[in-house]
Amino acid sequence: MGLMDRLLDRQSAFGFTTLGDKNVCSECFGDDAIKEFIKNNAISSYCDYCDTVNENTSLIAVTARIKCTVFA
Ligand SMILES: [Zn+2]
Repeated sequence: MGLMDRLLDRQSAFGFTTLGDKNVCSECFGDDAIKEFIKNNAISSYCDYCDTVNENTSLIAVTARIKCTVFA
């Protein structure tokens, strides 16, 4: 488990998050790997950023994946 995963688990255990709770869809990203990650981990159907119904994932999940990939 990476540092970001441990941080998110700890915050979840205490009932808060520092990363927000909005959803973002794959169409809001240009990177193919991030788009694929979102498609494979969709948990919502509404994007708060482009205001459309699409295959979405939680921004907190996307942020965790990006940070884990960059700093791993
Ligand atoms: Zn979007």
